[in-house]
Amino acid sequence: MSFIDRSTKALLLTELVSGLALTFKYMFRKKVTINYPYEKGPLSPRFRGEHALRRYPNGEERCIACKLCEAICPALAITIEAEPREDGSRRTTRYDIDMTKCIYCGFCQEACPVDAIVEGPNYEFATETREELFYDKDKLLANGDRWEKQIAANLAADAPYR
Ligand code: SF4
Ligand code: SF4
Repeated sequence: MSFIDRSTKALLLTELVSGLALTFKYMFRKKVTINYPYEKGPLSPRFRGEHALRRYPNGEERCIACKLCEAICPALAITIEAEPREDGSRRTTRYDIDMTKCIYCGFCQEACPVDAIVEGPNYEFATETREELFYDKDKLLANGDRWEKQIAANLAADAPYR
């Protein structure tokens, strides 16, 4: 571009005017952004968010302490200890997930034979300290209780494709 062209453009503010024209062009179009966190976008039923341990409708834990999730976890994020109960059933006495190690691969969910450990729809679980991301069984069961309705709906929606 010649010196005269550049000077003319600078004098007439053509770049400023074309930028403003572009702004006005989009000002009255339908917005593509959303007002997060007050508005949220749609989530796939396969979304892999925060982990949760589920219960059966009668309140009994689903987990049978088979440890398949612990064995398959590539990040070694899951730690399980188990003992038989007085009634002979086998249940975990400890179920920890180190969420700072987790890579959200979903293998634990895929390996579980009773749909006990799942990755739920919650993605808003940022913390201020690392310690808060060391989840124990109580925390995971509480997550399950909190999100059960959506988790069950997501599993049902995805079931025909599995
Ligand atoms: S999502 Fe993957 S990395 Fe995270 S706990 Fe499950 S198996 Fe381990
Ligand atoms: S969460 Fe599922 S895979 Fe993991 S120990 Fe319990 S029953 Fe087994």
